[in-house]
Amino acid sequence: MSLSIESMTDVLVVGSGIAGCATALAAARNGAQVTLVTKASEPEEATSWWAQGGIAVTRTDPAAFKRDIRTASDDTAEPEAVDVLVENARSAIEDVLFETLDVPFDANGSGYEYGREAAHSKRRILHVDASTGRHILGPFLSHLAGLDSVTIHQDTAALDLLTHEGRVHGAYLESDGDVEPIFAGTTVLATGGIGALYPESTNPDGATGDGIAMAALAGADVRDMEYVQFHPTVCTEGEPFLVSEAVRGEGALLCNADGERFMPDYHADAELAPRDVVARAVAREREQTGGVRLDVSPLAFSEAFPDLVALCDSHGVDWQAGIPVAPAEHFLCGGIAVDSDGRTSLDRLFAVGECSRTGVHGANRLASTSLLEGLVWGLRAGRAATGFDPQRIEVPDLLDRDPALPERFGAEKSVRLHRVMSEHVGLERTHAGLKRATAALRRLKGEVDAYTRTRTSRDLYELRGKSVTALLIARAAADNPTSTGCHYLAEEPTANVD
Ligand SMILES: Cc1cc2nc3c(=O)[nH]c(=O)nc-3n(C[C@H](O)[C@H](O)[C@H](O)COP(=O)(O)OP(=O)(O)OC[C@H]3O[C@@H](n4cnc5c(N)ncnc54)[C@H](O)[C@@H]3O)c2cc1C
Repeated sequence: MSLSIESMTDVLVVGSGIAGCATALAAARNGAQVTLVTKASEPEEATSWWAQGGIAVTRTDPAAFKRDIRTASDDTAEPEAVDVLVENARSAIEDVLFETLDVPFDANGSGYEYGREAAHSKRRILHVDASTGRHILGPFLSHLAGLDSVTIHQDTAALDLLTHEGRVHGAYLESDGDVEPIFAGTTVLATGGIGALYPESTNPDGATGDGIAMAALAGADVRDMEYVQFHPTVCTEGEPFLVSEAVRGEGALLCNADGERFMPDYHADAELAPRDVVARAVAREREQTGGVRLDVSPLAFSEAFPDLVALCDSHGVDWQAGIPVAPAEHFLCGGIAVDSDGRTSLDRLFAVGECSRTGVHGANRLASTSLLEGLVWGLRAGRAATGFDPQRIEVPDLLDRDPALPERFGAEKSVRLHRVMSEHVGLERTHAGLKRATAALRRLKGEVDAYTRTRTSRDLYELRGKSVTALLIARAAADNPTSTGCHYLAEEPTANVD
């Protein structure tokens, strides 16, 4: 094959973040030949690499952990999914992160140093300074690369699923302009989030919603798409970067441009309130007073978070004067609907990690539960996805299609998409705005579809991923008349009559 990729595999995993890696590990341990493809050319391009605050773990009080998840979600998290997460957390972390990968979590004389973040009632977060993700993903990828039964292909994008009579048989893969099918016993989507749909996001650029779009276009159920989480504290000076919730967990305070602390006026838990509450409060105070700063003077910031100090220094941010912050898109709580083993509604298709909707997060995610969800569901899906033989089916050849797009086609569409998503499908929404967004996104998707019928390129398919996913989000938001968690409906603006 021109791609130099095997044409058949037992388990095809698309995406090499924590969820894809955990799936590959479990499938390989179960005796499967695994092909792990990622469009990333460097591990840094996965959101998992960027994770800061850490990974929550069940300690002596699982009931409190479950309660915190449900409370943060506005009581919309599904109890069965929460049970799966909390009851498997300890064993998954011990098995993979302690024993297999030996992740150097921060410790003190008496054992691991558990951190606390917003909406957690207890200290339960394992971390490596504020750069936990890279200390997990680096060793994870190295470990998988050493296994005979796992083949990793970087810079290789899945464009579309291969389906026949309701069953998924693999995917079209693109690398260096060549496109080929790979036939798989099972296909596992682990493609991460959707940050690229918004002009301001904490995610890497490749978070274009590809897996969700591919699954939805193949007919899989997709749920809870309106629940897009915005992180409250993204530094606004220079190139934006996230300031972990762990900093508020250790005592940092939010102050407006008048120097006043405001969170106690919004919620009894003040700075430790659920993310959606803090994000809306920060946005309002910025609008009313002109800015918000994260005051880190109540804690020993440079001792507790040397990595964040280095990040501030490299961005020219004087953290001692308070870090200027604003909300930005961070995480999608919904996605491809899956069961407790990551099975989607389509035969032989699984989804794990941020692209999936397990029910754990409901309408709003509790901090530091996403890495855990990817790990727990990845291990479960990897086991469940083994034991199916790949089958070659007749598929159209995409090779002879013209990859070229008109100049500025992609840039123009992305600018329009960003404008619609930030104006109408952001932190606060209105019925009228969502209606307008749905209509505009439907038109935009139609324009992109006109090209995917005759052309094939990674850029075009990423654009398709964004336009399909954006429309799914806007439609779900327009169909949900109730403000819950991240889906917040503001009053319709009244006509100006003076
Ligand atoms: C700045 C930041 C800090 C965070 N901190 C924390 C934290 O402290 N704790 C926590 O629990 N969560 C945190 N999160 C959230 C968490 O990191 C992510 O939700 C989680 O890592 C997602 O993992 P994943 O495996 O699903 O996706 P990712 O890690 O994003 O991996 C997705 C992979 O899929 C690949 N891919 C995408 N599309 C395709 C395609 N079409 N073909 C092939 N490959 C494809 C990508 O290149 C990537 O390799 C943070 C997020 C950000 C942005």
